[in-house]
This record gives sequence, structure tokens and C-alpha cells, in this order.
Amino acid sequence: MHTTHNEHPMPAEMRAWLVCKRCLAPCKDRNLSKGEYLRCGRCHAQLKSFKQGNSFNPLWAFSSTALICMVLANTYPILNFEVAGKSQQNLILTGIQSLWSEGFGLIAALVFFCTIVAPTIYLGALWYMGGACTLEARWPGLRLAAKTAAMLESLNLLPVFAVACIVSVVKLRTIGNVTWDMGAFWIGAASLFTLLSMQAHNSGQIEIQLEQSQ
Ligand SMILES: [Zn+2]
Repeated sequence: MHTTHNEHPMPAEMRAWLVCKRCLAPCKDRNLSKGEYLRCGRCHAQLKSFKQGNSFNPLWAFSSTALICMVLANTYPILNFEVAGKSQQNLILTGIQSLWSEGFGLIAALVFFCTIVAPTIYLGALWYMGGACTLEARWPGLRLAAKTAAMLESLNLLPVFAVACIVSVVKLRTIGNVTWDMGAFWIGAASLFTLLSMQAHNSGQIEIQLEQSQ
């Protein structure tokens, strides 16, 4: 049986007061319930928030899964296209390469950024913050990770790409024989876990955690 040190009751006088980190004003501590915050009476900085066990676990788990799916989505072919006896397997990257070689450089760069670079960096940033908050560790560059995630959130177009794949398969079926490949499954899974990570990502909560661990 394990006991953790924070289960030991603290003497009442020791937990009665908190000191505001911003303006050093004393603030009476109290137990919070779900959704409640304790704010400094003078400068209104958030001093404490309700902690429901370890609420960063889902973020860390979802973003880890999404990152693994991202790697698999980029290593397996998405679809198999067969026309006039010739068949071709397509990775996300081969599609981008052919756009590039056909002279659509800007579009190729945009697709590359929005389907591979941005989602990977975004998920990496979420994973990093989720990990640091779960372990209550002060890893370097957490502020940068928070900023990066906020910046890339709207540029993460992997779910859009997943829908575009379905549309293109419907279109290509009029020309030849198209079959889905494993990569498509991983794109779907990566999109799903990206959306779940976005749901689990509560930037306000992370902000408070960062303030508290400073
Ligand atoms: Zn204050």
C-alpha cells in the first residue's frame, strides 16, 4: 500500500492564507468546488483553481495517441488507384510531391504545412503541455508551447484533409478503381484524436497551472 505525502492533514493555521504571487497580498484559502477559482482581492490574479484529480491526463493521452496516428498516417499509403491496368499507391507526401512537380508549388507548400507540419507541431505542443501539467513538472519552454498551440489551432487542417480524401475518392471512382488503404484509417484516427485533444485542451486551466508552478 502506498500513501502519498499530500494526504497528510496540514495544520489549519498553515493553510489558512495564501500569498498572491503578483502583488503579495494575503488571501484567505478555502476549499474549492468544481468550476471555482480563488482570486486575489486586490489585483484579481487567479491564485488557485479546483483540481479534479489530475485533469490533464486526457490531454496527454489523446495527444500521444494522435501523434502516433500522425506518424502512421504518413507512412502508410492512403489509397490505391487503378486505371487502365496501372495501379498506384499514394501517400500524403506523394500527393504533395506530384502537386509540386506539376508546378503548383504554392499549393504543395500549403498542403504540406497544413496537413503535416502544423498538425504535428500543434500536437507536439499539446503533448508537451499535457505532460508537464500531468507530472506537475516545470519543463522549459512551456510558455512557448502554449503560444504555439494557440497560434496553430486554426491552421490544423488534418480533419479537413480527411474529408477531402473522401470527396476525391468519390470523384476518382468515375475514372478508375479506387480502394482505401491503411493510411486512410490512420488519417481518420489522427483526426479523431486531434479533435479529442482540442476538446481536452483547456488553455485557461493550463495557464493557471503554469502560474501556480512558478
Ligand atoms: Zn494580487
